[in-house]
Amino acid sequence: MSVAVSSKLNKTVRERYLKLPQEGRVQVTYVWIDGTGEGLRCKTRTLEYEPKTVQDIPEWNYDGSSTFQSEGSNSDMFLIPCRMFRDPFILDPNKLVLCEVLKYNRKPAESNLRQRCKEAMDKAISSHPWFGLEQEYTLLGIDGHPYGWPPNGFPGPQGPYYCGVGADKTFGRDIVEAHYKACLYAGVKISGSNAEVMPSQWEFQVGPCEGIEMGDHLWMARYILHRTCEDFGVVATFDPKPITGNWNGAGCHANFSTEAMRKEGGLQHIEEAIDKLSKRHQYHICVYDPKGGKDNSRRLTGLHETSSIHDFSAGIANRGASIRIPREVGQDGCGYFEDRRPAANCDPYAVTDVLVRTCILNETGNELNCCTQ
Ligand code: ADP
Ligand code: MN
Ligand code: MN
Ligand code: MN
Repeated sequence: MSVAVSSKLNKTVRERYLKLPQEGRVQVTYVWIDGTGEGLRCKTRTLEYEPKTVQDIPEWNYDGSSTFQSEGSNSDMFLIPCRMFRDPFILDPNKLVLCEVLKYNRKPAESNLRQRCKEAMDKAISSHPWFGLEQEYTLLGIDGHPYGWPPNGFPGPQGPYYCGVGADKTFGRDIVEAHYKACLYAGVKISGSNAEVMPSQWEFQVGPCEGIEMGDHLWMARYILHRTCEDFGVVATFDPKPITGNWNGAGCHANFSTEAMRKEGGLQHIEEAIDKLSKRHQYHICVYDPKGGKDNSRRLTGLHETSSIHDFSAGIANRGASIRIPREVGQDGCGYFEDRRPAANCDPYAVTDVLVRTCILNETGNELNCCTQ
């Protein structure tokens, strides 16, 4: 892999061009998920006006044969704008727009799980499902080695790094702070960040978001992270177990509630949902990473604050369980629960979709390899 040349360009010179007037024309960067179901792509065009809502942004297209999405002979894919954000990189009035991908026949691409998710959210609308996702990730140097780790060997064992402070305990905080500010500017509903248990591992939270909004905001937060990392010459990976051995993996804990769970007496509704989840463990595991549980099997070992991929468990304040009820929720008797199983590289549309289908729409079925959406 070549070195991160863009990060070494003079960013002070770049500032000068950012200040040039645009004469009323607006750059819109279309962002979409590629055929891997994990990778993000983008391209930019000029509009002659400033779009006020996503409806003002026209459809576009791209070459799907270059994104693992189609054959070269029939390669045009449609980009359907879904949610508009401010562009924190080239600033107002420029926009970022998260898009759905449709095939030549206008059916969703295999990697487009948003339409199916939206159907579930529409059916469950009166329950007002809220989500908060905790996105963990690991920073890597351009050589693929964890950022800031000694070139030969390992940093000291885990213990001092979680929520750590100090140059010997944190690796890459500039990126975390820049990403947080960029999300606030963009209008992404970021709600927090912290250093994680493994050195060079971090987390940000997005939420609470209602319904389809959750997937849209998390995908854009991921785009902004990758783009921020470009500026610093560092790479963010969502691999659920980037370093084997005695190092924590990376998850995407899904916090979930319905209106009934948030009200007085809600704990009973939380327990009912957990009972439904217990009967569908295998199915959820299939959906909780892009490879049907294969990626997550490296992470969900039962060690390092995880539950075993083979067992379902739930408990108050238990970080070794599949489902954790936060202590204050147990005390208040209402609130939300946390599904700790999703891998860091999950598709949030798939995760929020299946939570709603199992817990609200009462879908059942737990057959193996069922996640062939
Ligand atoms: P943890 O203790 O597991 O590290 P965090 O503070 O990182 O928890 O994340 C908690 C998440 O729960 C946040 O994303 C927050 O938005 C979300 N959350 C809080 N209340 C609710 C709720 N009622 N329904 C769904 N999500 C919620
Ligand atoms: Mn957290
Ligand atoms: Mn965490
Ligand atoms: Mn958590």
